[in-house]
Amino acid sequence: MSFHGADLVTEGRVRQPSNAPCTHCGAKPTADVDFLDKRGGLTTTFEGPFCRDCGLAVFRSATASTLSRGWWGLTSFFATPFVAGANILSRRRVARLSSPQMPTEGRTSMPVGRSLWLRWEIIGALLPIVVAAAVVGVIRVNSDRERQQVASYIGKCVQFSIPAGALVGKATIVDCTGPHDGRIASVFAGSCPPADPSIIVPEARTTEITYCVDPGE
Ligand SMILES: [Zn+2]
Repeated sequence: MSFHGADLVTEGRVRQPSNAPCTHCGAKPTADVDFLDKRGGLTTTFEGPFCRDCGLAVFRSATASTLSRGWWGLTSFFATPFVAGANILSRRRVARLSSPQMPTEGRTSMPVGRSLWLRWEIIGALLPIVVAAAVVGVIRVNSDRERQQVASYIGKCVQFSIPAGALVGKATIVDCTGPHDGRIASVFAGSCPPADPSIIVPEARTTEITYCVDPGE
């Protein structure tokens, strides 16, 4: 994008239209903006200046394409909202222009086409919300499952097998009617009271869960 002298006059919040004719149909007035069409990692730039109708037409097709095909790839996923946002800012400038005036008879501006809101690609704008909801859902299901698993060990009996001279051994859940070294009394996030032996159960996926074993039973 280049700046024309008139383009920099923003006094009174009125940005002067560019003097150059529309790149696509030759009409005036125009705004010197670009539109981006992002398909995965590939971005195509449609350069201005654009008259009002050509600008709206290119905005609609490029943004629809970006919203439906722009998301593929990790970087693209995060870049797509910015590309769509840049297009929306450029659209505001062309939408403010008066209707295109042709210098010669017989040429016409691009047909503006259907509003972006009426195109199926607009559902692509919901993709980040859907992905975020799915991630939160998976985390919640997993943590519920872990919590249930943790709770299910309380009251069960364990038998230790610690090799001679070692500090770390194995704890096996055993039937309380048979021989056992103790019963799981409680669960701690940190360490157990000094009198109680503790076991760290590896089934807990994200955190280590410490079970405190009451050796009295
Ligand atoms: Zn045009």
